[in-house]
Amino acid sequence: MGALRSVSVFGATGSIGESTFDLLVRQGGREAYRTVALTGGRNVARLAEQARALGAELAVTAHDECLDELKGALAGSGIEAAAGPTALAEAADRPADWVMSGIVGAAALVPGFRALAHGATLALANKESLVTAGPLLLDAARTHGARILPVDSEHSAIFQSLLSEDMATVERIIITASGGAFRDWPIERLAGATVAEASCHPNWAMGQRITIDSASMFNKALELIETHEFFGITPDRIEVLLHPESLVHALVGFRDGGMIGHLGAPDMRHAIGYALNWPDRAPLPVARLDLAAVGRLTFAAPDPVRYPALRLARAVMETGGLAGAVFNAAKEVALDAFIAGRIGFLDMAGVVETVLERFAASTTLGAAPRTLDIILATDGEARAVAGEVIGAGRRN
Ligand code: NAD
Ligand code: MG
Repeated sequence: MGALRSVSVFGATGSIGESTFDLLVRQGGREAYRTVALTGGRNVARLAEQARALGAELAVTAHDECLDELKGALAGSGIEAAAGPTALAEAADRPADWVMSGIVGAAALVPGFRALAHGATLALANKESLVTAGPLLLDAARTHGARILPVDSEHSAIFQSLLSEDMATVERIIITASGGAFRDWPIERLAGATVAEASCHPNWAMGQRITIDSASMFNKALELIETHEFFGITPDRIEVLLHPESLVHALVGFRDGGMIGHLGAPDMRHAIGYALNWPDRAPLPVARLDLAAVGRLTFAAPDPVRYPALRLARAVMETGGLAGAVFNAAKEVALDAFIAGRIGFLDMAGVVETVLERFAASTTLGAAPRTLDIILATDGEARAVAGEVIGAGRRN
């Protein structure tokens, strides 16, 4: 028997991470894979449990203060424990054939780049990587002979719809949006929406941050940019379509007028399993659609007044360069402030827009960043400006 395929999962304890863990176990666990590293946050007990189940070589918590607890939970297992951002980056330096990028936010950037540097196949759930550093990330993959496989459901759907198609024949790409928690709310009620209300997705079970981003449509805004960066299609040819059933994930329109789309149950194990088994199409434990029972699929154009995030994403794509990094960082800080009860639901878009306006004055915003360090520095500056904007808003 040959060597086992080696895997690492960044963000193993999150929603994407748990689905990835589930598939690794179902597909043979430690008999089928050599698990190099698993990483998580404060849920150390669960991280240790996953590491023991897969016989991982290393488990890393993002938080230094959780290290002793992790060591305790792994006692006697022979599994190494480490903590903190440096340890996360070093975990990505350990070669693995397949790496899941399942950390939420720009924190996934450094591990992703480090994994690409040793030629891994990077299964990219983390959309923020492409939004903040798209061209550099794709360059890194090319330079190191690595591969990026999209795991966001829409982008996996586009990828699958484009199999054996020529990108030059693509006229348009349509990504669908469920509309999130507030799709049926009257617009006047949105200003008073609570964190608990925004954290309930009608169709998908996901982490809290992406769930709130779905309600505000910032998730779809990030995905517009992600589509532009990954598939290299101009922004004017990418459309967002409301589709409350979340069964059609994306559609590609070709120059002959035909469209190829991808349908499936709203279960991320499809997109994760597709990336895990690519180029094979392996059997996956996802529900099979009974379209006769579904009866009808509905579609609508998104209301631009209701969803300012989409307009902001288009401005970001227009500017290019570092605008994506500024947009994402401001969005992350605004989301933190909403979750902390410091700003209202509708204030998030206002904060992001103000931060973008402040940066628009800088002549270098649209220039392509040459290094990851430049992107990380801009991410830090945008977070500081967003903090000021939120602080000033509260004093008024
Ligand atoms: P989640 O909040 O459920 O899990 C995030 C994981 O990252 C956890 O393991 C957490 O411990 C870890 N983490 C959080 N902050 C970290 C930090 N600063 N440093 C290191 N680790 C950190 O999130 P999720 O819903 O699984 O989403 C993960 C990523 O996948 C996001 O980028 C999201 O947009 C994307 N995504 C998720 C889904 C989904 O169905 N959940 C679908 C498409 C794309
Ligand atoms: Mg998605």
